[in-house]
Amino acid sequence: MTRNDRTRFPLDTSTAHPARVYDYLLGGKTNYPADQDAARAMRSVWPSLPVSMWQNRDFMARSVAHLARERGIRQFLDIGTGIPTLPNLHEVAQGVAPESRVVYVDNDPIVLAHAQALLDSTPQGRTSFLQADLRDPESIIDSREVRDTLDLSQPTALSVIAVVHFLDDVDDPYGIVRRLMEPLPSGSFLALTTATADSAPDQMTGVAREYARRGMTLRLRSHERSRAFFAGLDLVEPGVVLVHHWHPGPGQATVRDRDVAMYGGVARKP
Ligand code: SAH
Repeated sequence: MTRNDRTRFPLDTSTAHPARVYDYLLGGKTNYPADQDAARAMRSVWPSLPVSMWQNRDFMARSVAHLARERGIRQFLDIGTGIPTLPNLHEVAQGVAPESRVVYVDNDPIVLAHAQALLDSTPQGRTSFLQADLRDPESIIDSREVRDTLDLSQPTALSVIAVVHFLDDVDDPYGIVRRLMEPLPSGSFLALTTATADSAPDQMTGVAREYARRGMTLRLRSHERSRAFFAGLDLVEPGVVLVHHWHPGPGQATVRDRDVAMYGGVARKP
């Protein structure tokens, strides 16, 4: 991170930003009036939005635990990290294997401002933070943070949780995810979640409208278009499902489909 990056990504608190809207709806404190207004408007359109977001966050923790415990993954490249929220990805991964290494990437300077909480690695492992944009995958792959922290000759998990829905199809999110998986060896994994209107059509269309009114894209995708992110990879059972159906734990027992508007899946690179 250089001062140059800070000028490239100025911190603007006058308009709502996805990371801070999400933080507010998760009950966090790292948000400003514009974010709070946006989040409240979205929640009044769909009161279940925080449930959906918590289920998304829980998917992150369960999928990372699965990758670390069942698949032996020790390296994670997490894009669209968000404002630190317990447990953070490295805490889950290092809780299973303290030597785990994580690179966090986000384009919002507010995340950088709180990166210290993301960098609190075990002594055996390592974490680093890179401010970069998913729409420029080369700037991520070629970064010093990725090259110094991860050994890309070893299996690595790319986690892109609740971020591709901020990219419209003109940004080619499918091509971007493919490009990010390219340098990773066989036995690497993709964990991805993305917003859908399938389970709560009117409500999520209303939420997307609230994002759009504030200059943010929320691209809702069908099951088929969500599954397309995993093309060429071997999906782990049960495939691409509403996030609370993926390897559910006790926190998923009473969750209703109509309260969750996120598809998620995990897949292995053959
Ligand atoms: N992955 C976390 C946070 C999701 S919130 C979780 O699921 O809990 C979405 C995050 O993606 C925000 O922090 C936002 O700043 C980031 N983001 C949105 N568009 C981005 C882009 N083009 N490049 C990098 N990060 C992006």
